[in-house]
Amino acid sequence: MPASIEVKTVLRKTKHRDGWFLDDYTLNLYSSCSFNCLYCYIRGSKYGINLAEKLTRKSNALELLEKQLALRARKNQHGIVVLSSATDPYLPTDEKYLLTREALKLLLKFRFPVHVITKSPAVERDFDLLQEIDAIAVIPTDLATRLKRGTLLTFSFSTLHTETGKRFEPGAPDPQLRLAALKNAAAAGLHTGVSLMPLLPFISDTGDQLINYYQTFSKAGAAYLFPATLTLHGNLPEHSKTLVLAAVAQHYPQLLPKYQKWFQHADQMPLRYRDAFYQRVNELSRIYKLPMSALTHV
Ligand code: SF4
Repeated sequence: MPASIEVKTVLRKTKHRDGWFLDDYTLNLYSSCSFNCLYCYIRGSKYGINLAEKLTRKSNALELLEKQLALRARKNQHGIVVLSSATDPYLPTDEKYLLTREALKLLLKFRFPVHVITKSPAVERDFDLLQEIDAIAVIPTDLATRLKRGTLLTFSFSTLHTETGKRFEPGAPDPQLRLAALKNAAAAGLHTGVSLMPLLPFISDTGDQLINYYQTFSKAGAAYLFPATLTLHGNLPEHSKTLVLAAVAQHYPQLLPKYQKWFQHADQMPLRYRDAFYQRVNELSRIYKLPMSALTHV
């Protein structure tokens, strides 16, 4: 059972809307994340090495959310709420607390559009509410010509391979279960897509794998796909760079010298690598008609 805390605010207005995630607001009902991905950007001294041990439920989240949404709605400040930016909204613990389902009911009540980002097939529980939000949410005026849907549902992957998933996302559901949920979301008429972030160099981003992602996700019914290569931070034991390099040393020792060279003095892959990666995914995006945006360009 996770610890609980009281927070002062739960719906956060963002300074800028990200081109991929389209976040006007972020909503995190839990602090930390039991999916415990080694590459997670939230890693740092606040949460320690095992993110699952610091998982905390925000006990007054729904009460605060209702007040914050009511105020924003009164001022006509409807915007896209990203659920979530610093945890997963469908952690196993949410089966008991139902914070995500109750939050969606509030978003529906106040007609806020939502962008759900998850690694879990447990989102299927809430397809009914996501469909209702999709139908009646108030789209921000500046997006009205390019966004016709009130719900975006993005499934997050760093691989489609079960074993690779276990190595780098030890607490998360099998990627194949996510893929099945994506198919179900598309069949349920939801506007759904994929975040392929981060792909792991030479482990889950080889040429054949890239083609396979586009073929597989296109066939599954994805409407968009956001690909990105790896970024890692920090040199302390709890930091993503330390943890990912340790996993590479354990499972892919032949790749360790490359990873050490790339990340010894940098947080991102070398520019030449990134350029080649984005050139290739741009080509695939065009071939498979899977845009790198959930917006419709008109
Ligand atoms: S699911 Fe997302 S928030 Fe949770 S550990 Fe993985 S990357 Fe971090």
